[in-house]
Amino acid sequence: MAVVMGIDLGTAYSSVAIFRNGKVEMIANEQDNRTTPSYVAFTDVERLIGNEAKSQAAMNSKNTIFDAKRLIGRKLDDPILKNDMKYWPFEIINHDGKLKIRVQHKNETKLFTAEEISSMILTKMKDMVEAYVGKPVSDAVITVPAYFNNSQRQATKDAGTIAGLNVLRVMSESTAAALAYGFDKEIFNEKNILIFDVGGGTCNVSIVSIDHGVFEVKSTAGNTHLGGEDFDTRLVDRFVREFKYTYGKDISENKRSIRRLRTACECAKLDLSSSLQATIEIESLYEDIDFHSTITRACFEEINADLFRSTLVTVKKALRDVRMNKNSIDDIILIGGSARIPKLQQMLQDFFHGNELNRSINSDEAVAYGAAIQAAIIVRDKSKIATDLLLLDLTPFSLVSDM
Ligand code: ADP
Ligand code: MG
Repeated sequence: MAVVMGIDLGTAYSSVAIFRNGKVEMIANEQDNRTTPSYVAFTDVERLIGNEAKSQAAMNSKNTIFDAKRLIGRKLDDPILKNDMKYWPFEIINHDGKLKIRVQHKNETKLFTAEEISSMILTKMKDMVEAYVGKPVSDAVITVPAYFNNSQRQATKDAGTIAGLNVLRVMSESTAAALAYGFDKEIFNEKNILIFDVGGGTCNVSIVSIDHGVFEVKSTAGNTHLGGEDFDTRLVDRFVREFKYTYGKDISENKRSIRRLRTACECAKLDLSSSLQATIEIESLYEDIDFHSTITRACFEEINADLFRSTLVTVKKALRDVRMNKNSIDDIILIGGSARIPKLQQMLQDFFHGNELNRSINSDEAVAYGAAIQAAIIVRDKSKIATDLLLLDLTPFSLVSDM
């Protein structure tokens, strides 16, 4: 059977997995990371995607595009978009009634649609796969949030087509995660799974039922502005105050200083998921002042306590929408990078009366993993070959329904 891929096209980070020889393999980028920033940057000489684009964002903020997923499939008069726009350093214009992003590239003004920006990220994912397997691969399943409407799904599919992918399906992230979870288990009685996804900028909770290989999204609730970047912002604010207190200088208006501080804060936050203390060291952060400081996990948890609690509000809403109580949930799956934060895990576990959270799948890989399985199922059903061992593995999953 041919190699197929599953792509988790995220707001903040994207990842890709392939399915071949009956199993899933996660693909790493050239920095050896399995998640790649969903950033595209335009410079005078080249176009950068991923880590390279994100790391130069401070110097080139007007031409560094991120959050394309918040734009895709939306119209200019969309109130959600209007609000998001206030926070973007790049320029969005009305071009003959269509929404375009305007950048300077190789000394020219260029206009791109959100689909085109997303297609550049998808191209990068495709290139990573092809470098890994050593031959062209184009069959792909791409994931979107369960709440995406038809226009957003279609635009995501178009992005895939522009990237030269054969988009087998656009599926919900929560269904993909449930598929990753259920794939190697034989589930014959109905099970209700709660998918808790806290990513870079969004928090989504879905309840998915699995019954005889049929997956169904029962409810989905979300907060589109609650995620890792908000936790980073709290850290930034704290260090801006500390800088002011120590040096009597306000760095908050200096975009470059803030960008550099933000990068350091995200690193410190990652450290705090595994250590009890993290350090920040930035040379010449402001007017030649080197900034050194530390932060404890306890302090990080305290300054984010209200945001962390908000994630539980979303959990309660997802339960309420489907009229379930927490006892009807059989298993809890964590997805998204921010779900690695120990305090968030503990709060969720406490909420479910100390029930263990499912740790069998990696939270930042589950979505791409499940999408790769879905891609394999579709290709198998199309080819109808009945001899592959793969078939046995996939038999219970012939009827994956999606919202
Ligand atoms: P997306 O929202 O695009 O789906 P992810 O699910 O990959 O993105 O989540 C990205 C967020 O997760 C970022 O804010 C990142 O800083 C955060 N993150 C990644 N790993 C960790 C970790 N070990 N601890 C805390 N936060 C993390
Ligand atoms: Mg995600």
